[in-house]
Amino acid sequence: MLDIQPEISFIEELQNATGSQLTTCMQCGACTAACSLSEEENVFPRKQMILAAWGMKDRLMADPNVWTCHQCGDCTVTCPRGIKPGEILAALRQMQISYYSKPGFLSRWMQDIRFLPLLILFPVVIITMILILAGTFSLVDFSMPEGPVNYGEFFPHGWLNGSFTFLFVLSAIAGISGIRLYWKNMKSLREDSGSWPQLTLHYFWQVIRNIMVHRDFNRCKENKNRSLAHLFVFWGFILLLFVTFFAILSTMFFEYPLTILNPIKIAGNLGAFLLLTGTTLMIFHRLRKNNGLESRYGDWFFLLSFWLLTFSGMLVEGARFREWSYAYHFYFGHLVMVWIIILYFPYTKFAHFLYRTTALIYLKLKGS
Ligand code: SF4
Ligand code: SF4
Repeated sequence: MLDIQPEISFIEELQNATGSQLTTCMQCGACTAACSLSEEENVFPRKQMILAAWGMKDRLMADPNVWTCHQCGDCTVTCPRGIKPGEILAALRQMQISYYSKPGFLSRWMQDIRFLPLLILFPVVIITMILILAGTFSLVDFSMPEGPVNYGEFFPHGWLNGSFTFLFVLSAIAGISGIRLYWKNMKSLREDSGSWPQLTLHYFWQVIRNIMVHRDFNRCKENKNRSLAHLFVFWGFILLLFVTFFAILSTMFFEYPLTILNPIKIAGNLGAFLLLTGTTLMIFHRLRKNNGLESRYGDWFFLLSFWLLTFSGMLVEGARFREWSYAYHFYFGHLVMVWIIILYFPYTKFAHFLYRTTALIYLKLKGS
């Protein structure tokens, strides 16, 4: 069992992050009544508001229900005490990611703008070193390849595929070790002592099917329009993930650079369009503060990273077809963004897809 101790600093951290006075909660339950996602067997957010006001950090760090929330804000506009339950659950989700992702200092850096230059500098240095080792770049004259733009001459495919595979494996290890510990903690807080069903593909499929169409998100009343932006980002990202995978394989079978009508290119452009549209809509919603939607630095870090990743990718493509003289500079910037997304994913809001999926599978098992 986990050791459950009230933590005053935890209450203060939550209050500072959301601008809410948790101690003024009168436990009326209006937030739970307003929440269209709260169900008899998974009641929230009132329960989480009580635990938060009591400083029950350990219990909340193992609570899967914080991931059932889609931050629609229905509860926030309903609370008679001006507390923002939706924002508190959002802060708790980020706290869970930070709590389980090791090394812990990286999570703290992602939430603090003072570390931004360092977080950017790291991939810049590593990519520069790879280019120097590959013999395509020198710090002596900063010269770029000559002739028609061919990114393979700047960052050879072997170096590109090798370094990004290594990066992906590194991030996957950090992400998987985080959700393993999360799963263990969720199970240790089980209140019933009944037998635990076997984890099968059936539970995965139920959750994935829900996520694929954002079924739960669409049950929100006020902020339904946000689900469209999330769907765009979700499908854009999935498409680009497949395209990246096939692009790595295709370097062995196709001649590069690919033409604009190559199926991989078409799928990549469609993915980029969805991702750019989705992130632009999300930025718009956050700027408008729909339904009291507050934004923390970590939200902007995640959103702007994805936006810049997609936009720089489009610039890179345009620069190749138009033979722009700054093509390789754009390409370098794009690679830095790819590194930022992959390397830091277990520590940023991007890790949502891991933790939300894990929590929803846990709840499906628990309720079965
Ligand atoms: S609506 Fe507000 S006051 Fe009532 S239980 Fe929820 S957070 Fe507390
Ligand atoms: S923000 Fe929406 S989904 Fe989340 S707890 Fe409040 S009402 Fe429910």
